[in-house]
Amino acid sequence: MLQQQDLFYWKGPQTALMLQRFKEVCPVKYAQSCSSGTAALHIAVLAAGIGPGDEVITAPITDIGTVIGVIYQQGVPVFADLGASTYNLDPADVERRITPKTKAIIAVHLCGNPCDLRALKAIADKHKLVLIEDSCQAWGAKYHGRPIGTVGDMTCFSLQNTKHITCGDGGIVGSSDERFGPLLQKFGDKGFDRIKGGGFQAFSTNYRMSEPQAAVVAAQLTRLEDIAAQRARLGNLLTEKISGLPGVMPHQVHPEDRCVYWFYFFRIQPEAFRCDRAQFVKALAAEGAPCSAGYIAVPLHREPVFQQHGFFAGHWPVREFGLTTMDYSKHQTPEAEAILRTGIRVTIHEGMNEQYIAGVAEAIRKVARHYAA
Ligand SMILES: *Cc1c(COP(=O)(O)O)cnc(C)c1O
Repeated sequence: MLQQQDLFYWKGPQTALMLQRFKEVCPVKYAQSCSSGTAALHIAVLAAGIGPGDEVITAPITDIGTVIGVIYQQGVPVFADLGASTYNLDPADVERRITPKTKAIIAVHLCGNPCDLRALKAIADKHKLVLIEDSCQAWGAKYHGRPIGTVGDMTCFSLQNTKHITCGDGGIVGSSDERFGPLLQKFGDKGFDRIKGGGFQAFSTNYRMSEPQAAVVAAQLTRLEDIAAQRARLGNLLTEKISGLPGVMPHQVHPEDRCVYWFYFFRIQPEAFRCDRAQFVKALAAEGAPCSAGYIAVPLHREPVFQQHGFFAGHWPVREFGLTTMDYSKHQTPEAEAILRTGIRVTIHEGMNEQYIAGVAEAIRKVARHYAA
């Protein structure tokens, strides 16, 4: 890469190598590199044709990047509730929130735990919705043996610093669908179709990734299978060792799936203990198992910018012009609230070993026994 004359992505050898290796991990026909996971999701939303007032159903516990593209296209994120221990979209609640304006579902594989894609795909097909997978936390995950990102119509990955593999910041969006795949390049590149030409037939922003970043990702992709396999092993081991403990709800993964544990998330039932979550977490640290309380502070729609509908210089045109009646101050996702109130996050990293995880499990058992109500 250092000897190249050009560092531009189009026809760049590093980008080509990266995308070739990406397609070995996630076999899709079309893939476009881009500047972030947020950009990948925005490109997918553009390709799905989301426009003013269109509703997109997604999860309230996620990175805000899941919905930034929806809001920029003047679409309306609709947050559905989550499974109590999978922390992923509850298909029944998704279906309840479908209206004539619903155009897409963004399924977030939280923590690298695959969503119930069979159910979500059936709902999407029945109501003619586009199914977008937010696979940003799910590098190397598998849904019923299939590589993550190959069930939905489009899939989006992040290469941000904290993700399983990284180049500091970056993303990839992929699709095998002839309706969407051929659109990804131009929507990642100012609306300019570099194969067909023909001027600016579409409008987008500049989400390109440069060759130096692609070179880093190409190398990172060779390590992915080991990283994913080790994280899956360690997370599943923790579940095995804390299962059956009264008041503790382990991270629930479908037995046919591979969860790649971007982190491990278990819940405590408050009534089962004589302490609150903060004390539980403090006691775990004292036992040599540093953990953190919760994940994001509140479900996305409870953040001030949503509560005030203030996305564009304090305004939200689609609401002011009557294209939506969405009122985030009245939006309810009770299970998501409860998950964030009672969840405890355990770091899982491929550099950890089985003994460390056994120690974490022992700490959880000891603290749970000590504070049992
Ligand atoms: C990280 C992440 C994003 C956004 O990715 P960036 O590269 O930070 O823009 C979107 N969705 C989820 C679930 C993520 O974890």
